Amino acid sequence: MITREECAALDAADPLAAFRKEFTLPDGVIYLDGNSLGALPVRTPERVAQVVEQEWGRELIRSWNDAGWFEQPYRLGRRIAPLIGADPAEVVVCDTTSVNLFKVLSAALELRPGRRTVLGDAEAFPTDLYIAEGVTGQVEGGRSVLVHPEELDRHLDGDVAAVVLSHVDYRTGELLDMPGITARVQAAGALMIWDVCHSVGALPVELGAAKADFAVGCTYKYLNSGPGAPAFLYVAERHLAAGPRQPLSGWFGHARPFAFEPGYDPKPGIGRFLTSSPSLLGQAALGASLDVWERADLAAVRTKSLALTDLFVSLVEGLDGVEVVTPREHARRGSQVALRHADGYPVVQALIARGVIGDFRAPDLMRFGFTPLYLSYTEVWDAARQLAEVLASGEWREERFSRRGEVT
Ligand SMILES: *Cc1c(COP(=O)(O)O)cnc(C)c1O
Repeated sequence: MITREECAALDAADPLAAFRKEFTLPDGVIYLDGNSLGALPVRTPERVAQVVEQEWGRELIRSWNDAGWFEQPYRLGRRIAPLIGADPAEVVVCDTTSVNLFKVLSAALELRPGRRTVLGDAEAFPTDLYIAEGVTGQVEGGRSVLVHPEELDRHLDGDVAAVVLSHVDYRTGELLDMPGITARVQAAGALMIWDVCHSVGALPVELGAAKADFAVGCTYKYLNSGPGAPAFLYVAERHLAAGPRQPLSGWFGHARPFAFEPGYDPKPGIGRFLTSSPSLLGQAALGASLDVWERADLAAVRTKSLALTDLFVSLVEGLDGVEVVTPREHARRGSQVALRHADGYPVVQALIARGVIGDFRAPDLMRFGFTPLYLSYTEVWDAARQLAEVLASGEWREERFSRRGEVT
């Protein structure tokens, strides 16, 4: 088995090692939860403080024009585009993933008149399913049907308007075949909506090459833009040209918001998917984190991500009571490792008490996220060692580790 010294040698040769100093992480913590809430970039507090103190505090309302506040959702969208393989005009930053899914799914249904079924993954992050239920509930005869991705083809009949899938499964870390599935869905006459929450910033995402119709994603996971930071949405250029409609027709999606006209006239292009004033403090944090991402080579991120997850799997497989749930094949793996353990919750709590932060998803999955910009091979080695010790010592049986918080 690989030694800690060998891991230190991998760190010394790591082309991404210099990124570690761009993030603030507390001493004594090995952070394996960047797939849930990314770490804080060093420059973010200063950037947010500048928006608060200078742009808001001193410049006040003038900042809408002078500091480019009005343009910010587009500017950030253009900067996210290369991370998801999109054209700059196809992406905008706004609202949350759930709200954005509501908008693009509604638009998709309108683009497929006569079809009323939306297919979703039964195991998906539930908010996506709740939104699909909400959208189809407003369409006469609409229905949202839950399937498993491997049996998708059987369900692709003439009533399916759209399919919503996560590129990477939030629980198991399984990566789906984006181009293959998109092509099959489109061949059946339906539109493909990808949720890239767990793949953006974890691996190169190629929405354009896959000919995806729509996508949504969040920025507070691998993109490190902070709790509650705004999400983004993608609409393929060919659909934008058709002038799709979305139901949250707020003033920021209007062609002339400051004309204050009583009737709604949507903006041309991606702007029609905006609804409200941007949350500029969250957007400032996103801007600071994109400053880091713009210097990162996504291919190097993917290479290191696979090496880190391979390393972790090799160190933990065979531990007592642990089953590796994440696919072994690289082509089917995102940037996290899920381990099944009957007492996963207290085991994760005991690990956190030792400074190794992962998380737990009911009923029995321990999740560990691997973020190549700020995680080293030695940290992964140490984390695996700590997990082995927690299991061998049985310390997770202490009663305090079984008490559950609101958020797991
Ligand atoms: C994190 C995540 C979300 C988050 O939704 P919000 O509306 O931004 O809270 C949605 N979908 C998936 C697949 C996620 O992983």
